Amino acid sequence: QPVIILADDLAPSETVQLDKSKVLSFMTRHGSTNSHTAILARTMNIPALIGVDYPEDAEGHMAVVDGRNGVFLLDPTEEELTKYEALRQEEVEKARLLQELKGKENVTKAGRKIALYANIGGVGDVASVLANDAGGIGLFRSEFLYLETEDYPSEEQQFKAYRTVAENMAGKKVIIRTLDLGQEDNPAMGYRAIRICLDRKEIFKTQLRAIYRASYYGNISIMFPMIISVDEVKAAKEMCATVQEELKSEGIPYGKVELGIMIETPAAVMISDLLAKEVDFFSVGTNDLTQYTLAIDRQNPKLDNIYDAHHLAILRMLQMIIDNGHKEGCWVGICGELGADVTLTDTFIKMGIDELSVSLSMILKVREQIRNSDAK
Ligand code: PEP
Ligand code: MG
Repeated sequence: QPVIILADDLAPSETVQLDKSKVLSFMTRHGSTNSHTAILARTMNIPALIGVDYPEDAEGHMAVVDGRNGVFLLDPTEEELTKYEALRQEEVEKARLLQELKGKENVTKAGRKIALYANIGGVGDVASVLANDAGGIGLFRSEFLYLETEDYPSEEQQFKAYRTVAENMAGKKVIIRTLDLGQEDNPAMGYRAIRICLDRKEIFKTQLRAIYRASYYGNISIMFPMIISVDEVKAAKEMCATVQEELKSEGIPYGKVELGIMIETPAAVMISDLLAKEVDFFSVGTNDLTQYTLAIDRQNPKLDNIYDAHHLAILRMLQMIIDNGHKEGCWVGICGELGADVTLTDTFIKMGIDELSVSLSMILKVREQIRNSDAK
């Protein structure tokens, strides 16, 4: 039966496996609101409270979780139940009104068009991408494929996943982020993402072969995470060239693939003029960019209240990235959670942003905001 899950903590790999038809909401004692677990809750569109305590004997009791206001009520009174049922109805009504925006363009009153894409964690999210009428997938966090299997997923397993997504998106853009995993005490600053891929070339090559093979069946782009230097980008591009050569000599077809990088380190921001000469697009990962710029571990719940993605430093960096990207003909998007912050949609457009890639539950809300903007 439908339940609220109370847990000490939930790993992202456990969260993706939750059966959405049964889980009304979840709550964890530990974890931070900027973690992948919290991001997944937004993708799944279920209310979640992270880093909140609850009584040990809550099991089997009726409860209310208000994700918007951070409220957990155990054994609510009739009066409270009525109040929260009304609030829930209000949410349902708001969501229904947003449905009217389906099929409409992401265009400002002054005629500026913005690409509005979705962030996904796996093949299972594609139905929601289409149901929410996103124009494409701006961030496919491919590491969940790796978390679902005991070993590294084979080229064939990955190919099937990427091909399914590409085919279902029927020509709409699908940006696959290459593996971004780390397994250390301090994974944020450790051996992770492009660092592992350039060191363990066999892992990287398997993923790139799978992506290029799938590119024949749709409109796939690749982006590399955690870039800090031009050399890394050159090395990653070389690996793409090798993979294409190999596929060609094996007679395996592949399509045209745009290459981009995530801008999520201050180093990448400061050399974005040089990086822009190497790629087709930039996608700003504000989740990591905020943690590295403000020196705030995004996983540390004690710092949630000062983790401020609106910090002027971040907004200035964003302007610099957009300007440097545009000078070299790169399009620039945001795929971090900040991209879905509707209080800034108008600001982003005025800054010159080309694309926003947001959680599934935010697509129509951001569309509404774009359509309300008067930015040229
Ligand atoms: C980011 O860092 O903003 C991002 C989109 O990647 P992730 O949240 O997966 O680190
Ligand atoms: Mg990141």
